Amino acid sequence: MSEKSSKKRRDKYSYIKKRKLPIRVLTLTVLISVVCLSGVFFLSINMDKIARIYKEVVKNDYNNLEYMDSISQNFYRHQALVFQYMDDFDDESVKKSLEEKSIQLKSDIEEEARKFGDNVIGTVYESSYHTIYSGLNGYFSNVNYIFEFGDEDDYATAEFYMKNMLQGSIEEVNDAVDLLDTLIKDDVNKTQQEMTNHFEVSRIISVVIIVLLTVFIFIGLIWSVSASREIAYKDPLTGVNNMDKFQKEMDKYIKKGKLTEYTCVCSNIKDFTIVNQQLGSDVGDMALRNFANTVFHHLYKDEKIARVGGDKFIILVRNERIDGLIKFIDKVSVTVDYHDEAHVVQLETRCGLCKIKQDYDTGTIVDNVHLALSQTKLKAVDNIWFEENMLEQAYDRKTLLVEYQNAIKQKEFVVYYQPKVNIFNNTLCGSEALVRWWKDDKIIPPFKFIPVLEEEGRVTELDFYVFEQVCRDIRTWLDNGIKPVRVSSNFSKLHLRNPQFAENVLEIVDRYKIDSEYLEIELTESSGYEDFNAFTEFVDKMRKRGIHISIDDFGTGYSSLSLLKKLNVDVIKIDKSFIDGIGVGDEMNESLVKNIIYMIKDLNRHVICEGVEYMSQAEFLKKQNCHMVQGYLFDKPLSHDEYEERLKSPVYEKNIVA
Ligand code: C2E
Ligand code: MG
Ligand code: MG
Repeated sequence: MSEKSSKKRRDKYSYIKKRKLPIRVLTLTVLISVVCLSGVFFLSINMDKIARIYKEVVKNDYNNLEYMDSISQNFYRHQALVFQYMDDFDDESVKKSLEEKSIQLKSDIEEEARKFGDNVIGTVYESSYHTIYSGLNGYFSNVNYIFEFGDEDDYATAEFYMKNMLQGSIEEVNDAVDLLDTLIKDDVNKTQQEMTNHFEVSRIISVVIIVLLTVFIFIGLIWSVSASREIAYKDPLTGVNNMDKFQKEMDKYIKKGKLTEYTCVCSNIKDFTIVNQQLGSDVGDMALRNFANTVFHHLYKDEKIARVGGDKFIILVRNERIDGLIKFIDKVSVTVDYHDEAHVVQLETRCGLCKIKQDYDTGTIVDNVHLALSQTKLKAVDNIWFEENMLEQAYDRKTLLVEYQNAIKQKEFVVYYQPKVNIFNNTLCGSEALVRWWKDDKIIPPFKFIPVLEEEGRVTELDFYVFEQVCRDIRTWLDNGIKPVRVSSNFSKLHLRNPQFAENVLEIVDRYKIDSEYLEIELTESSGYEDFNAFTEFVDKMRKRGIHISIDDFGTGYSSLSLLKKLNVDVIKIDKSFIDGIGVGDEMNESLVKNIIYMIKDLNRHVICEGVEYMSQAEFLKKQNCHMVQGYLFDKPLSHDEYEERLKSPVYEKNIVA
């Protein structure tokens, strides 16, 4: 399997991680930036134009108006001087002074007119200015004539010039001033209109930017809402829906009145921890993802799947397709990459199923399938349909948990001892401590509470309670001069999650000063796989202290003889189910037991067979060189006092085994 193709497969199944959102967001961000930048660019160009127009045209126009105003005011003043000159024609000194003032004023006007002239170059009213200028020249030359004739006291000629010539040039200048005023104001208006147009363009650009930004932000918001919904409703590992979404979809179906057309399934992958343990959690994740996707693609659009958590999934499937689905998910082959190689892993499932009734709400349905699923483990079957009476049992389960706490405090748990017998000399060679719950003068057997406590993670407390009682009893027997035999105590595999497990065991051993030869710890075989490292670590610590370890119920779980080789345990307990098949004509089973015993011995481990009820079984086992057995043929689990009697007379009187 090449790296490339394996990557391809990985990508196919991790589509949830490849949501298009980042690319979309990136595109949106780029678009927003482009729009903003180009908008700002156009705006700045436009504002620049406005500023330029204002500076170059409007300001100039206003300056020119001022020049013109000033010129025409001085022009009026000058006219007044000339009129006064005519009035005071007889007074030579006044005339002289007026002439001098006139020269001064004229030079002011000329100075302003020159500046004005510089300023009008290139304007639309340049030619009108020239009319004023020439009008002023005409005016001043006529004034000169008046003054010349005034010097000669020729009033009549001066008056003639005054009335005919001067009047004409004054009108010419005034008309030109009026025209220029209109032209400049027109120019100002035109320019202002131009500026208004540019402002309008800027306004449109701003509105476009704001509208686009609003649209983009709105789209962004919609995306982020849908993204957060995805996050809120999708299981990040597998990409299928999570429970919230699943329940919402069921609610929708309830509203439409069609949920009864579906069956709810809660499925759990069997021994998924083995995949995680053996192949690593990354491969485990890939297997889960592929499992979820395989089932997802098997479903119709209206059928739903969600991940509850861990290796548990919940599915809503059409009633008529339930059988097909059960068959489909019974064994699902998924391909995973392990050490750059494609491996096919077969995942088997257990399912709790619930036929949906009209009055069920989503919570009830989810609870029901979970309940049904929890029964599959207890009853060791693959699929169980929910039944109403399970609810009562579930209630019992709750009561049990409440009462358990109290029972521990009240010391309602007692330890029974079931002897182990050496069938070669018919002597007691050990025993197994088995707990009993004395409740209201009745004995509750362990199968009624141990599985529940184990599922709820509460059994560990009880195991230590029993183990401490065992140590206490051994201490008392030793102190009373009764020679005990090795007692094995059952410890749940849950202890392997406790890093202090070995230390806790040894603390009790040391507290009661018990010699390790009297102690043995039983762990069920499935624990060997699930927590292999913790298991070996624990075994090593116990063996260092000389405490025996046995594998209980061998043959019922997933242990293999090759695994046994790796586990440095002392004793293997062959499960009763194998012993039941001895002496009943089941040759296959007998041959299996024979070979298992042979191989265990070959691995230098001790072997013990439990559940020996008949002489024929004991005889068969003796022939296979199996020394130790445990079973009703010799003794049932005995109370403390009965067992003490057995310790005192450890030889079985009857020669039970021939
Ligand atoms: P186990 O450890 O495999 O214990 C052997 C069970 O087989 C005991 O049932 C014993 O009474 C029964 N047995 C022994 N010989 C015969 C026989 O010849 N015929 C029949 N029919 N049964 C026989 P028990 O005492 O009911 O215990 C059941 C299981 O409960 C135990 O199976 C063990 O898994 C669990 N258990 C008991 N005590 C404890 C405990 O203190 N801690 C934990 N974790 N589990 C315990
Ligand atoms: Mg046991
Ligand atoms: Mg057993």
